[in-house]
Amino acid sequence: MKIAVASGKGGTGKTFVSTNLFWVAQHAGKNIVLVDCDAEAPNVGEFLTGMKYAEEQVSQLMPVINQDACIFCGKCYEYCNYNAIFYLPERKMIQLTESLCHSCGACVVACKHKAITERIKKIGTVTKFQYSPNAAIYETRTEIGTASSVPVIKEGIRAIDTYEFALLDAPPGISCPFIATVESVDFVLLVTEPTPFGLNDLKLSVETLQHMKIPHAVVINRAGLGNQASYDWLKEEGIDILLEIPFDKEIAIIYSEGNIVSEVNHMYRNQFLSLLEKIISQGCVRKESLV
Ligand code: SF4
Ligand code: SF4
Repeated sequence: MKIAVASGKGGTGKTFVSTNLFWVAQHAGKNIVLVDCDAEAPNVGEFLTGMKYAEEQVSQLMPVINQDACIFCGKCYEYCNYNAIFYLPERKMIQLTESLCHSCGACVVACKHKAITERIKKIGTVTKFQYSPNAAIYETRTEIGTASSVPVIKEGIRAIDTYEFALLDAPPGISCPFIATVESVDFVLLVTEPTPFGLNDLKLSVETLQHMKIPHAVVINRAGLGNQASYDWLKEEGIDILLEIPFDKEIAIIYSEGNIVSEVNHMYRNQFLSLLEKIISQGCVRKESLV
């Protein structure tokens, strides 16, 4: 079973929820992997780590333009949907902007003059840590200046099928990295805070997941802040709130020290365990409906 923990907006406590869920699951003996899919800013390692046992490089093909062979026909420039080719025919200038290139290969196909070849470029890494005998953590990390973290995220998710249970800590927002993370999961847990900003971004996430037909439910973090609007909207939409985590100074202190709340506080451990059971039962319903 694959579960993604996501949030429309950064800073809502998504990693707090995913690391605590992982901790209680591995503590309960589940064969589990936690994948940090926030490849542009992975931070699971600030709370959980283990013995590093593998580091895999993720690469892509990058075009190389040979100015001597180029006749400045502009075909590659026309084919490139990402504005990654800087083309000034009147000055006989053509240049690749690597940070915009998505390695789609269209320019290579377009060039009939053999002026474009390809080279291998490292775009990120997937590092694997053994947390306990039954649990592992995968960290995806994109190289600075890489246009898209999607291939790195996909590589991180590719090897999880050997585990009975996978938790994916999704990147914030609803753009391509989020879609790449949630597209194959059984269930998405959305973490939000009851503020106007939280609600705005929650609506965008829910709209996306409804479009993708992926079951989802919500955890409200920092309950007690903000206003009632998020609760009213969730009720209107018929979306379940599986857990409310209070705005608690003790949580803030434990978290800011890089510790896992469930490890040190029995009340929260039981709450996350009960959250895990609810997620598994909702994820199972989805799996069964697909059989
Ligand atoms: S590989 Fe694709 S994105 Fe990169 S320069 Fe060529 S056409 Fe543009
Ligand atoms: S398609 Fe080939 S020949 Fe034409 S401008 Fe691009 S690199 Fe030059």
